[in-house]
Amino acid sequence: MDIKRIVSKMTLEEKAGLLSGLDFWHTKPVERLGVKSCMVSDGPYGLRKQDESADHMSINESIKVVCFPTGCATAASFDRDLIRTIGEAIGDACQHEKLSVVLGPAVNIKRSPLCGRNFEYYSEDPYLAGEAATSFIQGVQSRNVGTSIKHFACNNQEYRRMSSNSVVDERTLREIYLPAFETAVKRAKPWTVMCSYNRINGTYACENRWLLTELLRNEWGFDGYVMSDWGATDDRVESVKAGLDLEMPASGGQNDQRVVKAVREGRLDEKLVDLCCERILTVNQRYLEHAKPETPWNKQAQHELARKLAADCMVLLKNDNFLLPLSKEQKIAVIGKFARQLRFQGGGSSHINFNQLTCAWDELAACPGVIYADGYDIEKDEPDEQMLAAAEAAAAKAEVAVVFVGLPDRYESEGYDRRHMRMPENQETLIERVAAVNPNTVVVLYNGAPIEMPWLDDVGAVLEAYLGGQAAGGATVDVLYGKVNPSGRLPESFPACRKDNSSYPWYGGEKDTAEYREGVFVGYRWYDKKHMPVLFPFGYGLSYTNFQYSNLCLSAEEIKDTDTLAVSVDVTNTGSVAGKEVVQLYVADRESTVIRPVRELKGFQKVALEPGQTKTVHFTLSKRAFAYWNTEIHDWHVETGAFGIQIARCSRDIALEQNVNVLSTVPLPRKATLNSIFADLLEDPKAAEILKPMIDMFKQGMGAGESADGSNTITDDMLQALIAFMPLRSMISFANGQINYDDLVKLVEKINEAE
Ligand code: BGC
Repeated sequence: MDIKRIVSKMTLEEKAGLLSGLDFWHTKPVERLGVKSCMVSDGPYGLRKQDESADHMSINESIKVVCFPTGCATAASFDRDLIRTIGEAIGDACQHEKLSVVLGPAVNIKRSPLCGRNFEYYSEDPYLAGEAATSFIQGVQSRNVGTSIKHFACNNQEYRRMSSNSVVDERTLREIYLPAFETAVKRAKPWTVMCSYNRINGTYACENRWLLTELLRNEWGFDGYVMSDWGATDDRVESVKAGLDLEMPASGGQNDQRVVKAVREGRLDEKLVDLCCERILTVNQRYLEHAKPETPWNKQAQHELARKLAADCMVLLKNDNFLLPLSKEQKIAVIGKFARQLRFQGGGSSHINFNQLTCAWDELAACPGVIYADGYDIEKDEPDEQMLAAAEAAAAKAEVAVVFVGLPDRYESEGYDRRHMRMPENQETLIERVAAVNPNTVVVLYNGAPIEMPWLDDVGAVLEAYLGGQAAGGATVDVLYGKVNPSGRLPESFPACRKDNSSYPWYGGEKDTAEYREGVFVGYRWYDKKHMPVLFPFGYGLSYTNFQYSNLCLSAEEIKDTDTLAVSVDVTNTGSVAGKEVVQLYVADRESTVIRPVRELKGFQKVALEPGQTKTVHFTLSKRAFAYWNTEIHDWHVETGAFGIQIARCSRDIALEQNVNVLSTVPLPRKATLNSIFADLLEDPKAAEILKPMIDMFKQGMGAGESADGSNTITDDMLQALIAFMPLRSMISFANGQINYDDLVKLVEKINEAE
């Protein structure tokens, strides 16, 4: 199909029509030219394909499908293969259901634990989010089905999400909020991008030319089509100019007419309309040419896969005295409604109609001597004394009490943020009451974002199961009984309380203005900088075995910023059961003139090890691993100096480290002025050489040396310190009258021109 030719045959009305949806989920056909309609659908952790009544908030039913672990859970796996496998399964389902694009992955950074959609997102860390997104996209697209990486960009709160303006400085955008998109666009080439509802620095994402064209296409090389989030389009004419190809859903033809009018009145170049059409049709064609509706979709096999994968996402947070794994001989009290009514996905557009469910109780009920109590009413917050008493009685009779708690649906959803980080009062009280009668209390958590744990010291073990999809109950049992050794790690810090989070004073913003004043200090970048105690740090998670690290090897002691550094380390399973370790690599800039985080994640590998087995893990680091975004040159820059290569169990537990010296090959432009201070000028050896004679004059002017009576000795060091913060222009007054204004202007020129 010659797309350019087809577009050239379309009328302006047909072309403008193609730029918005046919309905909620389809692109428009142009039958007379053989242009077919294609369907897109939500997910992304299962399909939300609506057949009849369509909406974007999961109000109406969709087809029955398999629900895989959600974003928060899959990121906790720190396992690229696992995430890719989910993508492949979703891709197969899309082919079977004749869908051209699945609307995900959602990769926005978890700026605050309170964001209502954190359960859909991956991480507070851009590297982890970028790796996860890349794997997911590669998985789906390996089936010749497109993805729509979303929500581009800075959609980090649900509060006022359709009107708020995310005010983010350039460096923070580049270092924190954009890299997950950048990595995925460059490496996995998503077929489409979904722009977000909000404004970014004053301009709606959908009409932000810098974002959608200069950055996304020109800088990163994106070659698919951009669609709006549902109802995000503001000024359709401006958005065509900015690079928004497809408006979703349909706007009843109103915006199409605006586009036609703007072209007719000469306010919009028709070539831009053509370009949007070409991009949409190219992606549709890519799908249509290899559509395989005969692809089998074995939902039973996918359910079993979902169980296996969910178990590998779970994070063991506490395990005193090897309380876990449990043994079948132990008498267990299962307490908490979530054991029988699994919470496994979040609310909103990603909410899917699951085809079957495995709750923990479905399997635990078969254990000999097991007893059960509801403990709380999921729909309520208030404790119920009768339920608590029954739970206490059950716990008192058992060797181990396993309490299933978490966040109810109403607590976290697309569309609104959480107001606090606590669980419902009835669930917190339940844990306290059970732990008071049974010291062997295990807490299983089903939630999509960090919670406060005032009860943590009272319980023996905590398993963070996140929202693990429809088979998560079975997966929980597999982990509790040691059939699967837990290997998840937290993709986000769990602060002690929400006030510790760096965005706390500003999150949500004032009316429609949300200023990201904490800058790059998001998540562990903040807690580590502050040396602040956290409940559980980023990257944290226990295992039923132990791992030891040795032989950290760097390929060089010194590299140029254009070189790569190879890093290897041995990891050994020193325990008695097989397990998986997540080897984390952080880079720490040792002597930066820029205010930077203490360390940043730049690599991770998940390795499976039998007891006693050792494997060597390899990483390759290039310039980006050492660089920060320099706002003078508007580019990534590495400062010459030492960098720590830290092999860690989590951001707070560094197992091995070694330094590498990195030499910058890109000198920053000299921008000396009369107002430059000596401290800055003297950092540059060339400038220091040029300024030396003047510094000597200054010393004379200041009367360096000993005063006659020896009472006032001005040492060289003191002079150095004195001059450090003086601007060049002050030498007119302090250089013993030997320098005039014209001399200084010439000096500045000489410095700026020095080779
Ligand atoms: C959400 C998107 C979703 C779309 C379609 C919007 O409300 O923000 O993530 O893909 O609806 O349902």
